[in-house]
Amino acid sequence: MRPEETEGSILNTVSASDTAKPSAVDFDVIIVGAGVAGCVAAIELARAGKDVAVIERGVQPGAKNLSGGIFYSRIMEEILPNFLSEAPVERKITRNVLSFLNENSHVNIDYWDRRLASPVNAVSVLRGKLDLWLSEQAEEAGAMIMPGVMADRLLRGENGNIFGIGAGDEQITAHLVLAADGVNSFLARDAGIRKKAPNKQLAVGIKTVIALPRNTIEQRFGLNRDENDGCAFAMVGDATQGVAGGGFLYTNTDSVSAGVVLRLDDLQRSGLSAAGIHDRFLAHPAVAPYLADGKVLEYGCHLTIEDGPALSRQPLTAPGLMLIGDAAGFTLNTGMTIRGMDLAAESARLAARTAVEALAAEDFSEEFLSSYPQKINASPMGKDLRLYSRTPAFLDSPRLYGKYGNMAADIFYELYNIDLRPRKKLSKIVMRALRRSGIGITEGIRDAYNALRAL
Ligand SMILES: Cc1cc2nc3c(=O)[nH]c(=O)nc-3n(C[C@H](O)[C@H](O)[C@H](O)COP(=O)(O)OP(=O)(O)OC[C@H]3O[C@@H](n4cnc5c(N)ncnc54)[C@H](O)[C@@H]3O)c2cc1C
Repeated sequence: MRPEETEGSILNTVSASDTAKPSAVDFDVIIVGAGVAGCVAAIELARAGKDVAVIERGVQPGAKNLSGGIFYSRIMEEILPNFLSEAPVERKITRNVLSFLNENSHVNIDYWDRRLASPVNAVSVLRGKLDLWLSEQAEEAGAMIMPGVMADRLLRGENGNIFGIGAGDEQITAHLVLAADGVNSFLARDAGIRKKAPNKQLAVGIKTVIALPRNTIEQRFGLNRDENDGCAFAMVGDATQGVAGGGFLYTNTDSVSAGVVLRLDDLQRSGLSAAGIHDRFLAHPAVAPYLADGKVLEYGCHLTIEDGPALSRQPLTAPGLMLIGDAAGFTLNTGMTIRGMDLAAESARLAARTAVEALAAEDFSEEFLSSYPQKINASPMGKDLRLYSRTPAFLDSPRLYGKYGNMAADIFYELYNIDLRPRKKLSKIVMRALRRSGIGITEGIRDAYNALRAL
């Protein structure tokens, strides 16, 4: 907890200048943002015995946060061994469906595997509940959570070293600041290490949470109640009316999260409205039956990262500052999975470790903090970010959002539609579907080659 708490305000209202670091700071570390990244960093730092405060602009942690909702949760079991038994997780995801959606058809790759339940690989979550629980874990570990406070500037000495944040007339000082303020991090821009990301590297997500009885969800999605199984649909093609991105359907305990993620530049180019694409997706004949008779619980919209490998190659530190989670660009979208929360947790853990070392050495220089990007590069998440660095270019192919889905449906139609004409060989069916789809043979070969390199 912070050492010199004053009555009436927990913030330092002394008219200290924004450019002079006081000899005694309020906290060892200030974390801005009580999302997954901020809460995990706070847990790790408080456990290491550091004075740590988490500043959150929302009325409570999670109030402003939104994910589709599949958390690849193995990392959390290392950080919080009680995660699966006590955190508000909804269902264990054992069934993954990749769906190519067309106007009047869909072709699915439906993958169910009991091995995904033990050890648990992924769980569905609702951020309003999860972030609040994580912040309680941080508080129990000894961190101070300060909701309803918006950091509006960094405090920086004349030597450029960052020593806290300002919130209106008030200041909070610390040896180190961790920016966990999410995609489009204001703090990263204020520190001068990031510019606004181009629209091609960002996407907008719109999501509705629809309440349904537990039994209904289990029947509609073919889930085993005793095992608390869950299902995740990733849908491309007509899900987004051809706009780069995809739709999703994720089962929670007694609700379903449904929505779309749309790459910003392609959305603008299309002239379509994001809300219109979302509404049409929920009404699509392949989607609507899963949601029928449900009651809308929540509706929200949030930016997300489309090209995490490119964004996270930019600087991650400035003197006295480290970027974690989405603020650093750590999200991986492969078209089949979106991973942001697990990367947020892992980057927070590595930044907290670096912060403990910096506090011990009393060295907050950029040079000392450079061990944080080194830790990221050497970690599994760093390797994944490099492995999938070509994926955004592969997902750029417009053919993925229409032509391939239609072609697949044409092939299956010829196989299943037993009319009175003689059957054709599969090779002929495929070549005819390819011709009808308008995909050139060279384009098809190039896409297949890019898919192999990207995934
Ligand atoms: C539609 C959609 C679907 C997604 N689906 C998935 C998925 O299925 N699985 C997955 O793993 N990831 C998914 N993601 C990505 C995931 O949501 C993010 O990667 C994750 O939330 C990053 O966590 P974070 O803690 O870094 O940032 P955030 O969760 O964005 O938290 C940032 C926090 O900082 C606070 N804040 C911001 N600015 C300030 C300020 N100036 N002062 C004080 N507080 C501030 C915010 O209120 C917020 O609480 C999805 C994202 C979207 C939008």
